[in-house]
Amino acid sequence: MIQILDITTKPPTIHYLTKKYIEKNIGKNSVNQSQTLISFLNNSKEGAIVMNTEKCTFCQEEISDEDSTKNDGFIEWSKRLKHFIEKHHLKLPKEIETLFLERKLLLNNLDDSVFVDFYKTKNSLFYNTELYEKEFSDFVREKGFDLKEIEKPDNYHLYEKFDLEYNDLRKDAIFKSFDLSKVNFIKYEE
Ligand SMILES: [Zn+2]
Repeated sequence: MIQILDITTKPPTIHYLTKKYIEKNIGKNSVNQSQTLISFLNNSKEGAIVMNTEKCTFCQEEISDEDSTKNDGFIEWSKRLKHFIEKHHLKLPKEIETLFLERKLLLNNLDDSVFVDFYKTKNSLFYNTELYEKEFSDFVREKGFDLKEIEKPDNYHLYEKFDLEYNDLRKDAIFKSFDLSKVNFIKYEE
C-alpha cells in the first residue's frame, strides 16, 4: 500500500497506510490541500525503483509498485502516494500531512551528502540477514531437523514448510526488510 519512512524522529518512524485506510479516506481531501502536497511530492528525488507496476484498485490506471519511492533526504515515501492524492484526493493522517507540509519549506538547496546520510541511516534499519539465517537454523533444529539436510532438493518441501512457519512467527518483527525493533512502526487502518 503506502509506506513513509521518516528519519527525523528518534528512532526513525515507518508510517504504513493500509488498503483499508486508503479505501476509507479517498475523496476526503480538499483540492487546495491536495495541490500543496503534490507540489512537495513533485519537488523531490527518485529513491528506490522497482521495475513493476500494479493496477490502481480505484481507477484501474497503472501505478508504480509500492516499493518504488521518492525522497527528500529525510523522508521517503511510496511514489504512488502522488497518484492517490492527485487523482483520488486521499486525506492523509494529520501527523503525516503536517510532516510533508513542514518539509516543504526545507526542500531547496539540499546538499548531496544529505542523501548519502539518509541511505546510511536507512540501511542501518534493515534486519540482519545473517542473524535471520542463524535463528532460522535454530528454529529448524528445535523441530528435530538440520538446515543443511532440508535444503537438499529431496527435502525441499520441509524447507518451504518451516520457512512459512518461521515467517509467520516473525511477522511482527520484520516489515519489508526493516527490523521493527529499530523503528517506530505505525500502521493506519482508518
Ligand atoms: Zn487510481
